[in-house]
Amino acid sequence: MSQESYSEGDLRNTGMSLKHDREWDYELDRIVDAVHDRDAKKVGLQFPEGLKRRGPAVADDLRELVPDDVTIMLSGQPCYGACDLDTFLMRRTDVFVHFGHSPMKESDKIIYVPLFSNVDVEPIMEESLEELPDPDVDDEVGLVTTAQHMNLFGDMREWLEARGYEVHTRRGDDRLTHEGQVLGCNYASADVDADHILYVGGGKFHPLGLAMEHPEKKVVIADPVNNVVTVADTEKFMKQRYGAVHRAMDAEKWGVIFCTKIGQGRFDQAQEIIDGNDDAYLITMDEVTPDRLRNFDMDAFVNTGCPRITTDDGPQFHKPMLTPGEYEIAVGNKPLEDLSFDTFHGTW
Ligand code: SF4
Repeated sequence: MSQESYSEGDLRNTGMSLKHDREWDYELDRIVDAVHDRDAKKVGLQFPEGLKRRGPAVADDLRELVPDDVTIMLSGQPCYGACDLDTFLMRRTDVFVHFGHSPMKESDKIIYVPLFSNVDVEPIMEESLEELPDPDVDDEVGLVTTAQHMNLFGDMREWLEARGYEVHTRRGDDRLTHEGQVLGCNYASADVDADHILYVGGGKFHPLGLAMEHPEKKVVIADPVNNVVTVADTEKFMKQRYGAVHRAMDAEKWGVIFCTKIGQGRFDQAQEIIDGNDDAYLITMDEVTPDRLRNFDMDAFVNTGCPRITTDDGPQFHKPMLTPGEYEIAVGNKPLEDLSFDTFHGTW
């Protein structure tokens, strides 16, 4: 599975090995202060999938710093984004720490530790200049990045400005914490007045979504973790999606998935589909996996939860898995040209 937290250091499609070691700042002082302030007896720690293996060592370090009667619990639930808080653990702990993502929604109950990357982004930005326009010809560039590199966003902007670019940035919507931040399901920060967008970050998924969402722009990917510069190419991705839509066109029975993860619920969208189709059945679940859907006797599925499950993992499901927009095309409510990336807005 491949969602938010897999983006950085995801080497599957690059054929490269990781060029940089990373050290994370777990901000233990902040956690220990909260334990003392709240006289906490139970502390919950939630790590994204890619960092779960670090959990025990972080728990060990914390145990050294908090009173002996404090119990530390690690969330074993899958986690791919700030949309994906372990609310069960959260309710049962006095201090709940979510590592690896920036807040989708601030809450006094939760300590978010973003785990910023320590990778130097300048060398790869230098390389990305080859794909950006000469500033004497077109000096407008949009700049976006992921939460992991947000700590360097100001430096990135200054670096580009020093080379003659006018850097366009904006903060997308409520789902995003920072100006210039993008998520795998939200690229609203790239709605800027520039034909070129520089994406600084790891992985392929975000820039691909970005390029789909903004087909009129050239999206240059400067990946400081895998040390590679590429230009987002949506063709292969589009073919995969067209294929899924075509295979679903004959479907009669539809499973419409409503994801119960706190930041992934789009009930209205699911309800609308059910209301308009007597052969559509609402299925509620938290983790959307091929195994869990295999026993349902459906011809196709529509996922109103995380769009990355649909698009990244789509081929692994035994029946076509579509986004809500793709469903509309498959059942003939919209033309094929309307195929677009599924984006997600709002929080919870
Ligand atoms: S819903 Fe958005 S934020 Fe959550 S895991 Fe999917 S892409 Fe990431």
